Amino acid sequence: MATTRAIDIRTAVPGPKSQAVLDRHRQAVAAPLSVYLPVVVDHAHGALLTDLDGNTFVDFTGGVGVLNVGHTHPRVVEAVQEQAAKFFHTDYTIVPYEVYVSLAERLVAVAPFGGPAKAAFFNSGAEAVENAVKFAKAYTGRQAVIAFERGFHGRTQLALSLTSKTHPYKAGLGPFVSEVYRVPFPYEYRGVTTTDALDAIERAFSSLVAPETVAAIVFEPVQGEGGFIPAPQAFVEGLRRICDREGIVLVADEVQTGFGRTGRMFAMEHYGIEPDLLTVAKSIAAGLPLSGVVGKAEIMDAPADGGVGGTYVGNPVAQAAALAVLDVFEEEALVERGRNVGDVIRGTMLAWQERFPQIGDVRGLGPMLAIELVEDAAKTPAPGLASRITAAAAERGVLLLKAGVYGNCIRVLCPLVITDSELDEALATWEAALEAVLA
Ligand code: PMP
Repeated sequence: MATTRAIDIRTAVPGPKSQAVLDRHRQAVAAPLSVYLPVVVDHAHGALLTDLDGNTFVDFTGGVGVLNVGHTHPRVVEAVQEQAAKFFHTDYTIVPYEVYVSLAERLVAVAPFGGPAKAAFFNSGAEAVENAVKFAKAYTGRQAVIAFERGFHGRTQLALSLTSKTHPYKAGLGPFVSEVYRVPFPYEYRGVTTTDALDAIERAFSSLVAPETVAAIVFEPVQGEGGFIPAPQAFVEGLRRICDREGIVLVADEVQTGFGRTGRMFAMEHYGIEPDLLTVAKSIAAGLPLSGVVGKAEIMDAPADGGVGGTYVGNPVAQAAALAVLDVFEEEALVERGRNVGDVIRGTMLAWQERFPQIGDVRGLGPMLAIELVEDAAKTPAPGLASRITAAAAERGVLLLKAGVYGNCIRVLCPLVITDSELDEALATWEAALEAVLA
């Protein structure tokens, strides 16, 4: 039904103006900050991004899950401008400001906690995870942490110790934090069942770490960087049961799954299970750096006075953006919208799987969806195919991102404000890229 096309590709990708900046990048920017999509952005609104050469793309990367309300939402822009004109910074624990308290109240109100809960704010997802572990250690008086294979929790030293991908994240960067113990996470497509994973935790309690020394179990309700693998219901129930039995703090890392990404405000709502602590970042502030920990009040109150903090924790401009994000979710019924977007994408992906044997798995929760590409019936990972498909899609006007420890998944993190016609166009374009590479 679309009468106008959103995608508008006018040059080769990258075009000459993007290419000129990329050439300067190579001279001036440290090499490990390599660029995945060779498209230098000029401006972006909603689900659309326009580069310096005037090419317009549908952005399915959403800044790696940061833009669930879309690029430059007018509500967010207005809130940021208003706050920026008042003040940028004081350090909340020196001179406090109301926007911090308002956001804590609003976050506690939407987070999946039945009893008294409190919030604290930081900057990045990694910082939120680091601090969640601090709260858990202070509350339990214990030191050990259990994390999972294929988990991703950030790149600072404790977060990196919890993260489970050697190349490029961990190789050569040790020693890692001691007292981090890693066990399998269910991955039905590759034969790891919920029973396997829960049994491994029980085994770990006799072979790796005494349960009475474990402060926290940190997990993602849907593994993000690890390949968009949802935790099965029975697994989350099992984690809750083990944590209750052993007095361990259950930390749900919702940095990527939060703010409507899975078809609920928070992924834990799908399971009907309360974590003890929940980490948020990414889409909370639509692109301004902001993260937080929200959790049971008695755990959040456990560290000593001043034991948690930092110069920039809870920037008021980012918090004003976050309040606007919550308004947008309410005003535009964005959680419901996300579910519709997810239904359309899943249906399309399942039809692709019928056509292309290289699509081994279609999985996810709500609009947090991915395809896993394989070489053969033995499910040999096909990272090369995934790279060629994302390149072919970019040339045609859709920006896609990979995932997975093998780099063979292509994931959807599109803004949930994407229009029906933009979505149709993006999926048709992605399909053309699949045909070009796989047919
Ligand atoms: N946890 C999860 C689940 C994530 O997906 C990420 C980022 N991809 C992080 C933590 C780290 O967030 P940041 O990059 O903001 O430090």
